[in-house]
Amino acid sequence: MAEEKKAPRKKIKATGEMQRIMSEYFYEMNDAVKTGSRKIAWCTSVGPAEILRSMGFLVHFPENHGAMLGATRLSTEYIPVANALGYSPDICSYLTADVGAYVKGVTPLAKAYPGINSVPKPDILVYNTNQCRDVQDWFVWYAKEFNVPCIGIQTHRGVGDVTESHFSSIAKQMQELIPTLEAVSGKKFDMDELKRVLALSRECSDLWKKVLDTAAAKPSPLTFFDGTIHMGPAVVLRGTQQAVNYYKLLLAELEERIKNKDAAVEDEQFRLYWEGMPVWGRLSNHSNLFSNLRTNVLASTYCNSWIFTAFDAKDPFMSMARAYTELFIVRSDKAKEKYIKDMMAFFKVDGIIYHDAKTCPNNSNCRYGMPQRLEKETGLPSLTINGDLNDMRLVSDEQTKTNVEAFIEQLEERKK
Ligand code: SF4
Repeated sequence: MAEEKKAPRKKIKATGEMQRIMSEYFYEMNDAVKTGSRKIAWCTSVGPAEILRSMGFLVHFPENHGAMLGATRLSTEYIPVANALGYSPDICSYLTADVGAYVKGVTPLAKAYPGINSVPKPDILVYNTNQCRDVQDWFVWYAKEFNVPCIGIQTHRGVGDVTESHFSSIAKQMQELIPTLEAVSGKKFDMDELKRVLALSRECSDLWKKVLDTAAAKPSPLTFFDGTIHMGPAVVLRGTQQAVNYYKLLLAELEERIKNKDAAVEDEQFRLYWEGMPVWGRLSNHSNLFSNLRTNVLASTYCNSWIFTAFDAKDPFMSMARAYTELFIVRSDKAKEKYIKDMMAFFKVDGIIYHDAKTCPNNSNCRYGMPQRLEKETGLPSLTINGDLNDMRLVSDEQTKTNVEAFIEQLEERKK
């Protein structure tokens, strides 16, 4: 792969603090496994993390690990190992990369955090199928491997309007997780503790939303590529004070940038929206590609997926059920299109990039005419990039570059 020429994307000063809290998070789990001091739960990225945390579990997120495998470009090497176990090259490449790396005893954590040699062994795995079925198959594989329980929530899919009948059934499933969690954790469920954790999670979510919303400023102080890195605490540390403190720090820095008209991409000429999964093995490449064209890809559905405005500590189960069902990925095309349209207007973008990720149909929204319908409604052009989140054999750098350059030329023409 030819590296894109480095372009000036402004560095975020808070990054050091984010790396510190992420490192603390991984070492805490590693120490807990060694000493047996705390139980470990594995959770899907938009699973019921608040319940787990409130019951004293330390929480590991395999998708975060899958993304690390992608970003460190290890994933492609280990996907075939899972394929040989019967997990198709066409299914989620987080799953196949993660399982393949596990079978070979490899983890990117080892390089990033000396002394950590493996993912933390789970005492229980808890999923929510709100994003896809792959997470369930993934967790069931590990439950067998570690001989521990695997429990979960089956969510409605393709939901139009989210109604009480949707979220009351999800709330009931959440409550039904409690007896097994009590048995594994050895702790009684404590409603006050859940309310405390949920309030922190809501605060984290509100701050993360404010961080992402700063990209509406012209010029934008933030890029989508920054967002994919800085969302780490919103995913793995939501429900903790550390995540809240971190986003206060990051938000202050971005607000300062707005005040000083400090652009994340120098001489910002075009503003784009990213729809779909990131291409983890090409983050810096894509960032440079767009920056060199004085274009800021500044907002995305993906980074917004960890905003849970329905969380309400006064009504924990119903509000969690609502928040985890209202998510974009759970919804019908009609609801998704309205969401994207609103986002494009709010962030004042000139166009939209769809990433058609081969192994994630769940987060590839360009396959059933959505780009054409939205283009008609908004008058804003779109470009579809074919690729994948983790399997770099499915990514063509030359084709992406040629298509992006042609798209920006098209935007230039429109501007004239
Ligand atoms: S939503 Fe896509 S990337 Fe995420 S776990 Fe499911 S298939 Fe994998």
